[in-house]
Amino acid sequence: EDRIISGEADVQDTSFELSLRPQTLRQYIGQDKVKENLAVFIEAAKMRKETLDHVLLYGPPGLGKTTLAAIIANEMGVNIRTTAGPAIERPGDLAAILTALEPGDVLFIDEIHRLPRSIEEVLYPAMEDFCLDIVIGKGPGARSVRLDLPPFTLVGATTRAGSLSAPLRDRFGVMSRLEYYNESQLKEIVVRTSDILHTEIDELAAIEIARRSRGTPRIANRLLRRVRDYAQVRGDGIVYLDLASEALEMLQVDRLGLDHIDHKLLRGIIEKYRGGPVGLETISATIGEESHTIEDVYEPYLLQIGFLQRTPRGRVATSLVYEHFKMEVPSD
Ligand code: ADP
Repeated sequence: EDRIISGEADVQDTSFELSLRPQTLRQYIGQDKVKENLAVFIEAAKMRKETLDHVLLYGPPGLGKTTLAAIIANEMGVNIRTTAGPAIERPGDLAAILTALEPGDVLFIDEIHRLPRSIEEVLYPAMEDFCLDIVIGKGPGARSVRLDLPPFTLVGATTRAGSLSAPLRDRFGVMSRLEYYNESQLKEIVVRTSDILHTEIDELAAIEIARRSRGTPRIANRLLRRVRDYAQVRGDGIVYLDLASEALEMLQVDRLGLDHIDHKLLRGIIEKYRGGPVGLETISATIGEESHTIEDVYEPYLLQIGFLQRTPRGRVATSLVYEHFKMEVPSD
């Protein structure tokens, strides 16, 4: 099921987002600490005429990892080659990509935690010594040959830094965690996107969209696109606050950016388990969603805004949830 408030890209996002991607660190809004660090490392690498250290970007979907990878390449003045963990099935697939790189290139591997272990092993010498060990022949006559690669920068992105193997993680010189954006940064992103789309938007409308975007630029842009359609049809194309609010109501995104699935999950914990603690597997069975989807997609934002807490005995709904639903907190 497609959720308008999912941080993951859907089919419609792909071409739309391309036109919205900031090209430089300066245009990239928020994530100040990450930008500051990268700016120094990039500058230093350029001064030494070296390739940039390998960079690992991690954080929930839609926060700008892919965008940042492209910016790194752009700021370094090199090309970027893009692939994803699940797309590389055999060691030969990776070897073909690596040998086709130009000196200094950025190789971006999205969802790098999904690389099979056998392929990770090809990556170790490539990252460390810019070489490939390939085995030629079979059986007793097989021998290993070392192949030099052009120096390159690996930029890996993952939503789960914890599921990366230690040897892979250790080979990244730079590890940057992307944080959820605050309301004013998201507002800035909404205003910037409206500009690019030649859409006039009222400041209060931009704030309203920002507030319901779950700290995630991808969601902000997606909501803006829908609100803009609504303003086109119901109004004169200018996005005013009342039109924005109406459109967001219609999309069933509440004032904190929660939708019916969040509601189902939170109400389930409150109504069936007296607020918890309740185990992930039990929640999964109760609402009919896979536990890893709950963990990767639904939960992070609910944890972030303090609606859920993770305890050793399971998930607990906090008093904020009761307030949000205008329900009374049980006395025990
Ligand atoms: P991720 O790779 O983390 O899933 P993306 O890099 O694809 O996220 O970002 C999704 C969209 O959000 C991009 O197309 C871009 O338009 C927008 N975006 C992300 N981060 C920023 C930012 N810091 N400033 C402006 N726009 C951003």
